Amino acid sequence: MTEEMIFSKIIHREIPADIVYQDDLVTAFRDIACQAPTHILIVPNKLIPTLDEVAEEDEIILGRMMLVATKIAKREGIAEKGYRLIVNCKDNAGQEVYHLHMHLLGGKPLGSLLGSC
Ligand code: 5GP
Repeated sequence: MTEEMIFSKIIHREIPADIVYQDDLVTAFRDIACQAPTHILIVPNKLIPTLDEVAEEDEIILGRMMLVATKIAKREGIAEKGYRLIVNCKDNAGQEVYHLHMHLLGGKPLGSLLGSC
C-alpha cells in the first residue's frame, strides 16, 4: 500500500484511525506519531496529492480545512493559548504522504518554526 492510499483508506474507514471529525469534504484524525499533545491531520476526502495540485474548484475544500481546524482547536482546548497549522508541500518541505493534509499542532509552546536562512 502506498502512503497516499493510507489516508484514503482511513477516510473510507477501511483501516483504523482516531477520527475526530468528518463531513462531506474533509476528514480529521490524530497523527499516528504525534509531535505535540494535540496533533491532528485535516485531510480532503478527495485525493489531491499536494498543495501544488489544488485547482480553482478546490477553493471550498481549502476553506473547509481551515475552518475545521479552528473548530477542532476549540474543542481540544488549545485555541486560547494558540496552535500551529502546517502544510508540507513536496520534498523540500518534508512531505511524506502525497495526499494533501494540514497538521494542527498545539497543547504546548511549539517554539520557532524555522532555523536561519
Ligand atoms: P507529512 O510529513 O507528509 O506532512 O506528514 C505525514 C504525517 O502522516 C506524519 O506526521 C505521519 O506521522 C502521519 N501518518 C503517516 N501514516 C499514518 C497512518 O497510517 N495513520 C495516521 N494516523 N497518521 C499517519
